[in-house]
Amino acid sequence: MTYKTVRINPISPEPPRASVLVIYTGGTLGMVYDTKGKQLVPFEFEQIIERVPEIRRLDFEITFVTLYDPIDSSNMSPELWAEIASIIYKNYAAYQSFVILHGTDTMAYTASALSFMLEGLNKPVILTGAQLPIGIARSDARENFITALEIAAATDAYNNPVLGEVCIYFNSVLLRGNRAKKKESSEFNAFHSENYPILATAGVHIEYNRPYIAPIQSDQPLKLHTRLDPRVTFLKVFPGITPEVVRSIFRIKDLRGVVLESFGAGNAPTSSWFLEEIRLAIERNLLIFNVSQCDGGKVTQGQYQTSKFLQQVGVLSGSDLTAEAAITKMMFVLGQSNDLDTCRAMLTTSLRGEMSN
Ligand code: ASP
Repeated sequence: MTYKTVRINPISPEPPRASVLVIYTGGTLGMVYDTKGKQLVPFEFEQIIERVPEIRRLDFEITFVTLYDPIDSSNMSPELWAEIASIIYKNYAAYQSFVILHGTDTMAYTASALSFMLEGLNKPVILTGAQLPIGIARSDARENFITALEIAAATDAYNNPVLGEVCIYFNSVLLRGNRAKKKESSEFNAFHSENYPILATAGVHIEYNRPYIAPIQSDQPLKLHTRLDPRVTFLKVFPGITPEVVRSIFRIKDLRGVVLESFGAGNAPTSSWFLEEIRLAIERNLLIFNVSQCDGGKVTQGQYQTSKFLQQVGVLSGSDLTAEAAITKMMFVLGQSNDLDTCRAMLTTSLRGEMSN
């Protein structure tokens, strides 16, 4: 594990306006072509400063930390989430805010996981990345990075942070992290949040949508939770799904939780074999958490005949959770308790503004 720190001296003779810890994890933002020009590989974060010399003009004190060799975010894991969350926790008092440079592919999973792992957060944690590597002339990395730093440092008239939650900043919009989804792999507007309003828009000015920003509870100490239970999986239903597929998922050894990706408002097939498999799985104490395959709207079990059984048999409604927030919430909740009633109550209650109750 490498842990390197570089301090950028503020150019201004005034004391720095903000102190931000930047955690560099990898992703496209820091990618360059390898020597043969054949594929994109991660480069060292010191080179980011060379590519974005403008950041030296912010009168901030910025500290960079790389906790391991930069990764493509497809290799993100609960262990690395624990590393990132621990870095924030250890450095919490020393910095005003935190910016995480991260690949876009799993950024919404990381943002969701961190929101659960950092309880009582009252400082901003802003994830950002880019669709084009920073070394490329048309890259979106510079704007994303610089504006994420500005947002991380934003304070109100009383010098209190404007934000105290985990967010994603990308292509002019700031989103609640556990409400965001990657929706686009080629255009610059990579993220959206169908079920929760944008928290800020960065045009000529950065306009904050204050009624939707989580209130800051400054009297709360930060609590770190690093225990996540990875014994969870997705089951995405589709017309034609076979008993073999469903059975093999429900019978995975030691499995504790399944996020059921259902149709529309939480509907699933009503074939007797499917209902029986669900019933047996719940009888074996498996937690089944129902989220919709639709990006917008919410699960309302019982609204249609095709979801009534799910409600009756004890499938838990995931309301308007994203799949990313649902799976990380399950890992988190199962990591906190072995008591099924406690887990059920936590899953169906909004813990960090991730769902509407
Ligand atoms: N594969 C890259 C990653 O997620 C894509 C990106 O950064 O946009 O690390």
